[in-house]
Amino acid sequence: MKKMTSAEIRQRFLDFFQDHGHAIVPSASLVPVDDPTLLFTNAGMNQFKDVFLGLGDRPYTRAADTQKCMRVSGKHNDLEDVGHDGTHHTFFEMLGNWSFGDYYKKEAIAWAWELLTEVFGLPEERLWATVFKDELGELETDEEAVAFWRSETKIDPDHILYFGRKDNFWEMAKVGPCGPNSEIHLDQGPDACDRRDDPDHVCRVNGDCSRFLELWNLVFIQYNKDEDGNLHLLPDKHVDTGMGFERLVAVLQGVDSNYKTDLFMPIIRRIQEMTGHTDAQVAENIVAYCVIADHGRAATFLVGDGVLPGNDGRNYVLRMILRRAARFGRKIDLTEPFLADVAKVVIETMGTVFPELANRRQFILTTITQEEERFLRTLDLGLARLDEELAELEERDVKVVPGDVAFRLYDTFGLPLEITRDVAGERGFEVDEAGYRAALDEQRRRARKADRFEIQDEETLKRYTGILADIQRDNLLGEEGVVHDPYLATELETTTAAILRDGKRVKSARVGDQVEIVLAATSFYVESGGQVSDTGFILAYPPEGDEPIWEIEVSGALQPVPGLIVHVGRVRRGRPKVGDAAWAVVGYERRMDIARNHTATHLLHSELRYILGEHVQQAGSLVTPDRLRFDFTHPAMLTEDELNLVTQSVNDAILVNYPVEVSREDYRQAVSEGVIALFGEKYGDEVRVLRVGWPGEPFSQELCGGTHVHETGEIGLFHIVSEESVGAGVRRIEAVTGRVAVELVERQIGILKRTAAYLGSTPEEVDRKALELLDELQSACKEIAHLQEKVARREFETLLDDVRTVSGVSLLSARVTAPSMDVLREMTDWFRDRLHSGVVALGTVLGERPALVVAVTPDLVERGVDAAKLVRGMAQIVGGGGGGKPALAQAGGRDPNRLDEALSQAPRMLEEML
Ligand SMILES: [Zn+2]
Ligand SMILES: [Zn+2]
Repeated sequence: MKKMTSAEIRQRFLDFFQDHGHAIVPSASLVPVDDPTLLFTNAGMNQFKDVFLGLGDRPYTRAADTQKCMRVSGKHNDLEDVGHDGTHHTFFEMLGNWSFGDYYKKEAIAWAWELLTEVFGLPEERLWATVFKDELGELETDEEAVAFWRSETKIDPDHILYFGRKDNFWEMAKVGPCGPNSEIHLDQGPDACDRRDDPDHVCRVNGDCSRFLELWNLVFIQYNKDEDGNLHLLPDKHVDTGMGFERLVAVLQGVDSNYKTDLFMPIIRRIQEMTGHTDAQVAENIVAYCVIADHGRAATFLVGDGVLPGNDGRNYVLRMILRRAARFGRKIDLTEPFLADVAKVVIETMGTVFPELANRRQFILTTITQEEERFLRTLDLGLARLDEELAELEERDVKVVPGDVAFRLYDTFGLPLEITRDVAGERGFEVDEAGYRAALDEQRRRARKADRFEIQDEETLKRYTGILADIQRDNLLGEEGVVHDPYLATELETTTAAILRDGKRVKSARVGDQVEIVLAATSFYVESGGQVSDTGFILAYPPEGDEPIWEIEVSGALQPVPGLIVHVGRVRRGRPKVGDAAWAVVGYERRMDIARNHTATHLLHSELRYILGEHVQQAGSLVTPDRLRFDFTHPAMLTEDELNLVTQSVNDAILVNYPVEVSREDYRQAVSEGVIALFGEKYGDEVRVLRVGWPGEPFSQELCGGTHVHETGEIGLFHIVSEESVGAGVRRIEAVTGRVAVELVERQIGILKRTAAYLGSTPEEVDRKALELLDELQSACKEIAHLQEKVARREFETLLDDVRTVSGVSLLSARVTAPSMDVLREMTDWFRDRLHSGVVALGTVLGERPALVVAVTPDLVERGVDAAKLVRGMAQIVGGGGGGKPALAQAGGRDPNRLDEALSQAPRMLEEML
């Protein structure tokens, strides 16, 4: 049979299950959407975890896919094994098929067999199956699976083996879904065993050698395990299978290493083109080739899923594998950035299966190259330093690199721990990794401490919790705490529940007191999600009349503990008391300014994604009444055209006057409908969704707790004030809207008009006029410089009268006017032009500081006259220093008042020298 390509193998797997009624679902992102326990998606079932836990469902009961997975434990061997054997990878694909309460063991076993033997043509007699038998005798043996292996397949009954909990029982966690599994192994024949020389080795399935390959794991989820370890049969039983794609391709292409399949060979060939190595040289350096191929592939997929290089978590992993690949590149003499070329091959070969690669091609290439360049700048320095450290340790006969040394190498030179470990390992050293982590933690602790307002120390938290409990006991609040609704009205009637002065509860307050006041209900927005708090007033009115009896001006609101909202302000009038009826009144104009900026932030986010690409993700946001600030991931500065386009698109969306709709929805439902949730934000089950656009066709939909305008037209005008970088791959846009934007535009037009008037021009022509004037100014400046030189030259001519003779040598020592050091030096040339033998010492004041130049003609240099010595001697007097050559030297100083004195010393100094 003709060898199948990897693309064909993947497609046949998917087609097979589609023909058997499965929905073919796209691979989930490598960044788990809402599973903070997971660094990376590492198995096909991750995206279905909620279904197995009974928390979610899908519109289908059968599914199949190929899932992108990353496994980087960071532990020694996993990473170091990449490239040293044919089976380890950081990034890999996992093929899988699932049943959610639909088919069970019979179909799962029958289809696995049919696919492997009939579609992929694997020889039946080489396949083995394992099933579960509890070595402790507590759990039921999976005779059900055995029966189906016998009835549904043509497997040799002697090839059905029983294994215990370690190999054949699967658990999601300590509690929750679990069940027996059945694995399919392939016997590659006795010659494939890599432990033939080991007398203790028993060559068999699960015998820990390379002869038997585990191909496919079929998991039968039939129990739920409770806290006490008891198993309960699930009403709905599920199937979860996983087959490592790279391994399957290696088997079907008949090669003994995954790296020899067509998944990796195109990458390795491309690297070979760059190094110009012969095949023999490639074989010699195969580890480097495999590491680069593996890491380059992983990095391409990570950036494709929006991960950027950085110092923490996922971002660190990406940085580490990119730098590790670059270091291995250095080992095969690749000194220029090359990883983008590796990524290009990955995108070309995988971009049709994983369209995010093709869609984000430019973003991926730029991000990878930037990180590589950043690293290459310090790589040699870092490696040289590591070299020194190792040599020193060697001398002291120490074999462990201290943790703080490894940490400094990362902190200063960007050498990730993993690279230090690689290099150290190659020279027979180990690294104290615990020490490294301690040093890293220490640095983070210091950084956190220095981090802005850490308002909530333990004491304060306790105090506020106590206050909340007190108020609740006094029945001043409902069970949930303060009723908080900033969305409906900006004014509401309520009662005062507590007044605090200097952090202590008081019964009342007086005019001038700075207080914290708690109301039973409030419409004040409390700072969160980047939107600042409202300000306004809290007022109490008498039963008759409209002059308030007391009034507090509120400058902000905070929520120190859940359920407690504290208004911070100053009493302006009267004597507020606990229990008083009061109005909470949010400053309406300011609230509207904030709302305009917040809705505009959503428009900006959506237009940036539309114009620059889907890789744009919010990285930070600030919404105030004056302006909005939006940070987002993007690898390059925005061009003038891009900025104009963004501004125009946002303003177009404002002019259309789209409705802005808010709804409360189930979190999962919202996210599955494509609502943007910010990564790293915590959301409850019920979320607030903000949509902008015509009903049913929103062009912006985000989870958001902020306050917004009702129609985009209320924003008025949107204007970008600045665009800048705030870190690797993160840009920041600041913009204004509404009143502030109008005011800004008016002010700038005013400036333009006045400028035009000053220049005797019109606003339309002012730029041309300004250019003309600049031109004129430039030629005038040139003319002035020319004249200055002429004047200096003339002045200099008269100075020649002052040339005196010291022991037969002509000396000119004088103070001159010179606009610059250059002219001062030039003057010494004029002197040498006129007097073919002599010494000249000139001084001037540049700015506030004295400057000196001494020149000596060659004949006198030969007689031992040294300009540098002379200038140094004179510089001492003006409190400075200098130097140069025997023929020409210069100096500067601090004291201009002693310049003449310094110059007057020249004859004496020259005399001494002669
Ligand atoms: Zn063996
Ligand atoms: Zn928002």
